[in-house]
Amino acid sequence: MIFTNDKVKQLQHWIADAKHILVTAHKSPDGDSIGSSLGLFHYLKKKNPNVWICHPDVAPNFLHWMPGFDNILNLDDHNSEVKKHFEEADLIFCLDYNSSARIGQMEPLMNASTAKKVMFDHHRDPDEKFCDLMFSDISSCSTSQLVFEFIEASNDLNLLDEIIGTPLYTGIVTDTGSFRFSSTQPKTHHIVASLIEHGVKHWEAHENTFDDNSLDRIKLVSYALLEKLEVKPEFKTAFIAINEAEQKRFNAKKGDTEGLVNQALGIEGVRMAAFFKEDDGIIKISFRSKGSIPVNDLARNYFQGGGHLNASGGKFVGKMDDAIQKFVTILPKFVQENKALFE
Ligand code: 5GP
Ligand code: MN
Repeated sequence: MIFTNDKVKQLQHWIADAKHILVTAHKSPDGDSIGSSLGLFHYLKKKNPNVWICHPDVAPNFLHWMPGFDNILNLDDHNSEVKKHFEEADLIFCLDYNSSARIGQMEPLMNASTAKKVMFDHHRDPDEKFCDLMFSDISSCSTSQLVFEFIEASNDLNLLDEIIGTPLYTGIVTDTGSFRFSSTQPKTHHIVASLIEHGVKHWEAHENTFDDNSLDRIKLVSYALLEKLEVKPEFKTAFIAINEAEQKRFNAKKGDTEGLVNQALGIEGVRMAAFFKEDDGIIKISFRSKGSIPVNDLARNYFQGGGHLNASGGKFVGKMDDAIQKFVTILPKFVQENKALFE
């Protein structure tokens, strides 16, 4: 249990005394970073109205429906406002990231701030020096779950309502692959039950998040699966690569390629999948695996990245063909090193 009495009390004092609270989360937002930010924001509002949310960049469209989304200021579009909030903040929440390197262009603002910093996170190897108070639990399925546990440990479940609960529910659903991943704990289901008891309409959250695709997106996904999917049966690996011209052709929006890597992983006999996406001359790569194949090692050792055992990411600076070439070259060695896990 990371929410010990004294740490929770300490944080509640900081919240009560703060003049300017900032909620932040990592670059390239996902359901959990947006869900935990909004859930915490709506909760904090009931304790202290002086609270704002600042993120490095805008979230993909499929997350914009969440209650309070318009309160999120991103540095790309609201540069001077975000800077001002960092200058004025005396308490900063750092959600869903383990070091300041994960907040991109916001990092210098964070490092220059003298505010007290509080981490809520579930990634491995948290940077101990970065925050004044750390709530880091790498066994937790999501940061949204940690926000719930903080509210519970503060004896504030009576404050929980649909507005607080809906983003938290969505964060848990997206980070657990709809309760599929092994990170889903028994207590995750208890927490979700409590969220529904407090008014969350779970069917609406699923519909808003997963059943609101543009026609362009459906066509991009179809094209990727039909024309761009490569399977290497000898390595039980599948991958998809989408370059900038292809994204343009299908009028791709942020988030439109989300989940493609899981489609590749879902092929019978495949144990590991990768997705390559060209973005401003950089190749961003997502890795996924089944069982205990450590794709975080692959991302860390070869592609300047990291992440979780079964879901990681990294990048390659250069051309798409060279990124794929590097991956295909590494593949035999990686599979050999983890032979038993690929069986
Ligand atoms: P995704 O493939 O959804 O972009 O990322 C999956 C997971 O990999 C993320 O939750 C995050 O933990 C990790 N990840 C993705 N990109 C990077 C990266 O560039 N660096 C690090 N350290 N982790 C990453
Ligand atoms: Mn997360």
